[in-house]
Amino acid sequence: MTTAELCPSPVSPTIDFDADGVHHGFLRLPYSRDDSAWGSVMVPVTSIKNGEGPTALLTGGNHGDEYEGPIALFDLANTVRAEDVSGRLIIVPAMNYPAFLAGTRTSPIDKGNMNRSFPGRPDGTVTQKIADYFQRFLLPMADIVLDFHSGGRTLDFMPFCAGHILPDKAQEAKIFDLVAAFSAPYSMKMLEIDAVGMYDTAAEEMGKVFITTELRGGGTATAESAGYAKRGVRNVLKASGLLKGQPELGPTQWLDMPDGDCFSFAEDGGLLEPLVDLGGVVRKGEVLARIHPVGRTGLTPLDVKAKMDGVLAARHFPGLIKPGDCVGVVAIAV
Ligand code: CA
Repeated sequence: MTTAELCPSPVSPTIDFDADGVHHGFLRLPYSRDDSAWGSVMVPVTSIKNGEGPTALLTGGNHGDEYEGPIALFDLANTVRAEDVSGRLIIVPAMNYPAFLAGTRTSPIDKGNMNRSFPGRPDGTVTQKIADYFQRFLLPMADIVLDFHSGGRTLDFMPFCAGHILPDKAQEAKIFDLVAAFSAPYSMKMLEIDAVGMYDTAAEEMGKVFITTELRGGGTATAESAGYAKRGVRNVLKASGLLKGQPELGPTQWLDMPDGDCFSFAEDGGLLEPLVDLGGVVRKGEVLARIHPVGRTGLTPLDVKAKMDGVLAARHFPGLIKPGDCVGVVAIAV
């Protein structure tokens, strides 16, 4: 017996992923609560299958306040015809659906951060049960995994598609081919500061070709950023032979995050005065932002400096900042 048979998931899909054609349904997870004794969390899912071929698993809303992915994937689910596909697309526009409905990074049900919940638990919290379903049922079906992110309410990024540096160089090469095919204005070789429990890590450890994005942020989307997402997902599918047609490639600038010196964190709270905007060229030691103490006037602001030469690839978004918040991320143009 397989692990999945020995330990079934409480999540049941309402569609058959092996059936040809376009199928819209739900990943249904029983969730008993005050306002619905026998209620469920209903995570929307679409399967579009046409014959044999690879499977792409496409996700947005891993964090509930990031919108380019859900925009691109609700649109994709509505517009792709089965006859244009060779293989299978499994589309989950809002992976942490309770968080997405609340417009928050984590789930309002259990405060679960989906991207710190892998491998999940079939007997865990709602967020852990959804993660477990991806870990043991959806990821194993996939060849290619595209997980959309943006900065959410608290970060803003230069728009990029990204992959991780991996020990398996053949897997890594396939990943960066797809990052290039996505054709965002920037393409990132990304370093994670906290990779434990990430969906990314779960997919990569299974040997999947996993790519992700950061396409602006601030808890909203723009016409430009949503456009990158819509074009990017189709480009990736076309480059993989899963969708008919040729990718619409544009220029991309490759960026690298070589080590932890990319990140600058706040050591005090207060009012954030940016001195460099996204995409700005910075030198090591240059002041990225100034934190003004706000308890009274007459106090000296704290300068937050870049620890390396590069461009400002991400920044704190809200006007106020707390100790420990990420002020900015510097990446190297390569
Ligand atoms: Ca995110």
